[in-house]
Amino acid sequence: MREGISEALCPRRLGGHRSRPPCSRRRNVVSVQCPYCDAQAALATGAELFPRLPELAEKRYWVCAPCDARVGCHAKGAPVSIAGGGRRISDGTLPLGRLANAELRDAKRAAHEAFDPIWRDGHMARTTAYSSLARFLGIRLDECHIGEFDYWTCKEVVRFAKTLRLPASES
Ligand SMILES: [Zn+2]
Repeated sequence: MREGISEALCPRRLGGHRSRPPCSRRRNVVSVQCPYCDAQAALATGAELFPRLPELAEKRYWVCAPCDARVGCHAKGAPVSIAGGGRRISDGTLPLGRLANAELRDAKRAAHEAFDPIWRDGHMARTTAYSSLARFLGIRLDECHIGEFDYWTCKEVVRFAKTLRLPASES
């Protein structure tokens, strides 16, 4: 479980939105910190985490076992926007967001279930839906990613969707 994290421990790599993280020179080294206990998360494969889901076997995840917190990674080869601008190609270990424990994962799922139909069912363009949500939350549009939200912000997303009083979705 601890393989892959031994070389470059850089706790400031995640969380800070500074334009040049201290370890940005080491482009192939990703280090991820657990937001619950501050420990270094460890890389795991889908095969290890979800042995019954062979379709996830090749995927990589960052995991903090004591917190039951985890986050998936951008697929290998995917272009990923990085904080401060620019892009890099994922080596398969760039996290999709922060680690989430079971409670937060449920809250994010509920937020997506409430919010996604707004644009998916054509009530608004996707960009309009996200800019309306950002205004509701009082954050910038480029900060408006449900994958990055904490538990209470996810609850606010559900509240935002309710204020629109959309007809109930079939899905
Ligand atoms: Zn933890």
